[in-house]
Amino acid sequence: MMVIPVGFGRATSLLIKRFSWFQADCLVRRKHSSYDVAIVGGGIVGLASARELIQRHPKLNYILLEKEKELAFHQSGHNSGVIHSGIYYTPGSLKAKLCVRGAELSYAYCEKKGIPYKKCGKLIVAVEQEEIPRLKALHERGLQNNVQDLSLIDAKEIQEREPYCRGLMALDSPNTGIVDWREVALSYAEDFCEMGGTIKTRFEATDFQITKESHKDSTDGLKYPITIRSSKETAIQCSYVVTCGGLYSDRLSQKSGCSSEPHIVPFRGDYLVLKPEKHYLVKGNIYPVPDPKFPFLGVHFTPRMNGSVWLGPNAVLAFKREGYNVFDFDLRDFTDAVSYSGVQKLVLKNLVFGVNEMYRGIVIAAQVKQLQRYIPALTVNDVSRGPSGVRAQALDKDGNLVDDFVFDGGSGAIGSRVLHVRNAPSPAATSSLAIGEIIADEAGKRFKL
Ligand SMILES: Cc1cc2nc3c(=O)[nH]c(=O)nc-3n(C[C@H](O)[C@H](O)[C@H](O)COP(=O)(O)OP(=O)(O)OC[C@H]3O[C@@H](n4cnc5c(N)ncnc54)[C@H](O)[C@@H]3O)c2cc1C
Repeated sequence: MMVIPVGFGRATSLLIKRFSWFQADCLVRRKHSSYDVAIVGGGIVGLASARELIQRHPKLNYILLEKEKELAFHQSGHNSGVIHSGIYYTPGSLKAKLCVRGAELSYAYCEKKGIPYKKCGKLIVAVEQEEIPRLKALHERGLQNNVQDLSLIDAKEIQEREPYCRGLMALDSPNTGIVDWREVALSYAEDFCEMGGTIKTRFEATDFQITKESHKDSTDGLKYPITIRSSKETAIQCSYVVTCGGLYSDRLSQKSGCSSEPHIVPFRGDYLVLKPEKHYLVKGNIYPVPDPKFPFLGVHFTPRMNGSVWLGPNAVLAFKREGYNVFDFDLRDFTDAVSYSGVQKLVLKNLVFGVNEMYRGIVIAAQVKQLQRYIPALTVNDVSRGPSGVRAQALDKDGNLVDDFVFDGGSGAIGSRVLHVRNAPSPAATSSLAIGEIIADEAGKRFKL
């Protein structure tokens, strides 16, 4: 275990980060063993929330608990790396508001911290006549959401922007960018530690209990009535809890005495990678006009900060919540999913779509065929298999995908002291700083901080 003193400087911290600091436990040396607020989950949402809370209420003691040995290991470290501008989302929804604000805050944050990003823009391309009305509707939606500098461009302008892309019409979003979200999340962690917060990795919260009477030696009385136990039988005491558990957010909610609905269903997305000699085919982000029946944005072309280009991902029901390989299987996750009425209804409603997505995940040529609709020059020889990510998709018991962010708490002794980020789907990385603000507002009211 590594002990980092409070107030370590940025130069030191960068050096430590280079030596995989975040792979070790980061425990800021402090006299407290109990905490005012515990944040469970060290993804980008938990870290942004922890950072915002400590910034607003610096006199309180905070601990962030993460089950992995590294921070940002799951969705926050396995995503497309796009700074979304906020086009797609229903006007007035949290998704729309938090994405537009989050993107603005993210650019300002990266600028301030010297985190590399690129505003390389994005084209949403209609390749069939029938997609044009949907594209125009997206344009309207983006305008309603206050996305800056949107415009519709014709086939000639598409070719000027993306010489290898074919399309009839495209929505041009110059405000869309790319960044390494893991790097951003680690920077939030650094801010949190610098402000006196404690991060404990390898701590899987398995049980939340409320203390009814104070310990006979306690000088705090019942100030820290919640005990969070870990799978390794260690425990911490705290007054309030914020959970940001990503793929396990429903189970964390249930364990802390609140509802398990909506359920989280894991959808794996497999990427292909463009061979370096073919990088010239793609300049910025190229996206399809999304299928309104499905919340994912469809296979896209995304340049990465390290110079590579990712294609995809597809979306298939995964048999393990944090399983990144096709054959990963977890009995509990599997039975949990297939016994849930929501999953059964979803599968029945989308059988053909689901089978096609699975087929495209296995057969590269099928995925490439889809991508050739946008870049006809692309061939199977130009790509290789790339990494995968698993999305936490909230689903209600009727099989409806819960599209918007969900933040809630519970009732009763523990429930009233807990706040959950129940659903933080894409673009939660883009929205993370704005989600942090909303969590800090809500925690302030709920916990009277
Ligand atoms: C394939 C894919 C592509 C995406 N592309 C984009 C994109 O381009 N742009 C964008 O803005 N968003 C994108 N997203 C969405 C974005 O990555 C996620 O919405 C965001 O990372 C969610 O962050 P999180 O902190 O809620 O979850 P996570 O990053 O999954 O973090 C949750 C953390 O909680 C921890 N945890 C869980 N249970 C416990 C426990 N019991 N005890 C302790 N710790 C626990 C986990 O280990 C994990 O570290 C994408 C997502 C995926 C999967």
